[in-house]
Amino acid sequence: MKEELKTICRIQVLDADIYSARQRLETIPQELNELNLKEQEGAGALREVGQKLAESARVKKAGELDLEASTAALRKLQVQLSQVKTNKEYTAMQQEIEQGKVNISGIEEKILLEMEHLDALALQEKEFSRQYDLLKKDLDGKRKTLLEELALMESRLTGLLTQRETVVKTLPAEIASVYSRIMQARPGTAVVPVSGASCGGCFASLPPQFINEIRKMEKLITCETCGRILVWSQEEV
Ligand SMILES: [Zn+2]
Repeated sequence: MKEELKTICRIQVLDADIYSARQRLETIPQELNELNLKEQEGAGALREVGQKLAESARVKKAGELDLEASTAALRKLQVQLSQVKTNKEYTAMQQEIEQGKVNISGIEEKILLEMEHLDALALQEKEFSRQYDLLKKDLDGKRKTLLEELALMESRLTGLLTQRETVVKTLPAEIASVYSRIMQARPGTAVVPVSGASCGGCFASLPPQFINEIRKMEKLITCETCGRILVWSQEEV
């Protein structure tokens, strides 16, 4: 039994590595996903300011067209003013001209305000674009590191599984099946050393007689509390 127990310990060491490699392989895609979300956020903010900029340019252009039309209308009125026949008509048209001038200065003011808005947005876009470039550079670096780790973990896992397969073949089938049953119930650790006078897995106290038997390594002994296989010391076997 001693040899089998040693083999079980070797499998346990491999399985612990396999377990942590698989855990890591599960978290890397999540981390990559988080990086993609951050990039989308940055791109979204940049796109938003770009849209505001386009809208502001559109408002300014509309104001300029309005100014052009209003100025032309005013000039027409000023030409017509010299052609009116009556005082009444003259006064009415003069009022209209005054109103047109007020209107034009209102439009000019709106255009000026929009130009200021446009300048502020252009500065913001420049800043957002700079921040996005920095963010992208940072994210690309992190992505590269994660992808390299992913590839490394995958090849490590393949190696470990191959090694495991070779070692498992040397174990009698019934012992191998006991081991895998415990491993399923206790993911990551099926074999634990005695720690002090307790189970190294669940820390339940072990009776002295039990400990003596484990030390002899003559049979497969499992913890009555957690069901894991108990060995004297994983390092010594
Ligand atoms: Zn236990």
